Amino acid sequence: MNTAQAGGRGSPAIIARPDHTISRANISRNALKVLYRLNEAGFQAFLVGGSVRDLLLGILPKDFDIATNAHPEQVNELFRNARLIGRRFRLAHVRFGREIIEVATFRASADAPEAHHDRSLDDGGRILRDNVYGEIDEDVWRRDFTANALYYNIADFSIWDYADGFQDVNDRVLRLIGDPETRYREDPVRMLRAVRFAAKLGFSMAPSTAAPIATLAPLLREVPPARLFDELLKLFQGGHGLRCYELLRQYGLFGELFPHTQASLAGPHGEALEKLIRLALESTDQRVAEDRPVTPTFVLAVLLWGPIRERAALLLEEGGSDVDALADGATEVVLEQLERISIPRRFSGPLREMLALQPRFYQRRGARARRLLEHKRFRAAYDFLELRAECGEVDPEVVAWWTALQEMDPEAQRRELGMRRTSEKAPGRRRRAPRRSAPD
Ligand code: ATP
Ligand code: MG
Repeated sequence: MNTAQAGGRGSPAIIARPDHTISRANISRNALKVLYRLNEAGFQAFLVGGSVRDLLLGILPKDFDIATNAHPEQVNELFRNARLIGRRFRLAHVRFGREIIEVATFRASADAPEAHHDRSLDDGGRILRDNVYGEIDEDVWRRDFTANALYYNIADFSIWDYADGFQDVNDRVLRLIGDPETRYREDPVRMLRAVRFAAKLGFSMAPSTAAPIATLAPLLREVPPARLFDELLKLFQGGHGLRCYELLRQYGLFGELFPHTQASLAGPHGEALEKLIRLALESTDQRVAEDRPVTPTFVLAVLLWGPIRERAALLLEEGGSDVDALADGATEVVLEQLERISIPRRFSGPLREMLALQPRFYQRRGARARRLLEHKRFRAAYDFLELRAECGEVDPEVVAWWTALQEMDPEAQRRELGMRRTSEKAPGRRRRAPRRSAPD
């Protein structure tokens, strides 16, 4: 039951140590150090948020966040390795080598009328500034989901539960705290978070949490593009990208993030594009599961491929090479996409290169093919080509040929490419020949 009232009233249900499964053995030593030190200095200290939720679910937490009644300056004094960060939210980061423990001071509630001191909303109800310190029973109400609002108390290893999150975690239900519409209006990113947690945790959304999303999805247009990029990485590179994609589509959120892609999905090549996206996300999830590196370049290339390909076809009608058309198409589509989601240049540059290489795989003879093989985006472009072949967009024989070529020794490669042997030169090196600037 959700009987708890927002606004700093009510007392928590306290789940004592014997009644839950969280063991200190699964908590990072550094987080424990910070918790104990705060507690010894006379402050309240709790593990909070995703780490408590994940520990209860038997998932290894990504990070360990701490909440305390110590003010950031006081935290800063307790730890030599602490640093204060943040403007909208002032926080302390305590650093131990590569691990950063985030220590946040309790903040006043979103709903508590007595706590409006330093909080400002825009006309749509979106939070612009929110820096009022409060007590734990206020802090809890500004959190998003009940499962994310559990506090593990280092003083006696109990869990404090104001919002019936313990029950929801056990029932595997994702439930927004407070009035869902108000909470989504305050911060539309919570709609994306709902999808992400549902996907990652395998939770179902409480009906009242799911219901407003279809109507409120357009509020995502007001979210700063840089924040959406961060969120995008969490959605598609968190190991549950395919499920996130499915839920984004299902809840009408995808089109708000990628309007052009949404249009392509409804177009004549929609089915192949859908397949491409699914295969790519599946393979990204697989890589994450195996702890192999993933790059936003690849995910973005896949997500934008539909509109880029269509744009390139239009540009090609005006003349020029297909390589140029793809490069220019990519530039245009990325530019339009930036209105919604910022894409740092370090990703958009390689994306453009990798897509523009696609037509060059059809040229399989001579120095030009050799240069493709040596191109710094060859591997990414080849992986992408392979995906396209799986969707029926590219002749599989072409992919097979390039696969075989990569496995040959340099002499066999030269023969396969129909190139004459150039004596005295190290194999695999290319001659410095005068080159045109485009389109390599
Ligand atoms: P994970 O780190 O596994 O993705 P998390 O729950 O730790 O999940 P974070 O984004 O790290 O998520 O946020 C930590 C906590 O801060 C959340 O559990 C939640 O209580 C609170 N929180 C984060 N973002 C929001 C938000 N937009 N609105 C309300 N509360 C939030
Ligand atoms: Mg976290």
